Amino acid sequence: MASSIKYFIGNWKMFGIPSSYKILVNINRYFYRDKKNNKKYKIIMAPPLTLLQDYSKKFKSSKIYISAQNCYHKDNFGSHTGQVSPFMIKKLGVKYVIIGHSENRESGETNEIIKEKVKIALKNNLIVIFCIGENKSEKRKKKTFGVLKRQILKVIKNKLSLRNIIIAYEPIWSIGTGMVPSKNELQKNTAMLKKFIKRKFRSNYNPRILYGGSVDKNSVKEFKSINEIDGFLIGGASKSSKNFIDIIKNFYK
Ligand code: PEP
Repeated sequence: MASSIKYFIGNWKMFGIPSSYKILVNINRYFYRDKKNNKKYKIIMAPPLTLLQDYSKKFKSSKIYISAQNCYHKDNFGSHTGQVSPFMIKKLGVKYVIIGHSENRESGETNEIIKEKVKIALKNNLIVIFCIGENKSEKRKKKTFGVLKRQILKVIKNKLSLRNIIIAYEPIWSIGTGMVPSKNELQKNTAMLKKFIKRKFRSNYNPRILYGGSVDKNSVKEFKSINEIDGFLIGGASKSSKNFIDIIKNFYK
């Protein structure tokens, strides 16, 4: 059975300046107005690093949770120019961090580095939004499940950590392209992943698995009936409050 709380997580990537907080104000307002459904979901937003401190203060007593988009694979302080450790992120009052996004994997982030990041983020009591996904050629060669299993096994080390990890299944070919998997395919992959994780880690805990890749107000209608999906990681459509709210509205329509 899928966990009852659904997640709507926005990833702003390289977008946003201080005044963009108005987008979150609108979303927060919608959340409060949505009395019928707002106990059923959680909203998390990942602005860029430059806005983390400001936004985590501004939205501290709101219903928008703030996430970092990445972190460095070493902790505390150190000689790593331009990097930010999980410890530094946690000290800003941030509760979540996205790790393993395909855009970072593409610029050289390996499974080993991701494993370190996850380990240190968990040590700092951050909740990890861990991204996995196959590329187009892996999909064509029917290697999807093998790729996903490998990405999981290289990084998740024990069943206890599962409680603080939210997996975001993001087929790389669907990110920012407008292409999405068929409902059947997505249902099958998510169900297989859940089964695999429970068996592998001998866990009764139902792992949380989100879908990410070109989610918008239309594609969400197709996916909302997939019980195995615990929510969505949303890139492009999270940069506008209207688009983001429309996703939530259509999910519960
Ligand atoms: C993402 O970057 O995680 C993502 C899912 O982007 P988009 O929704 O734009 O495809």
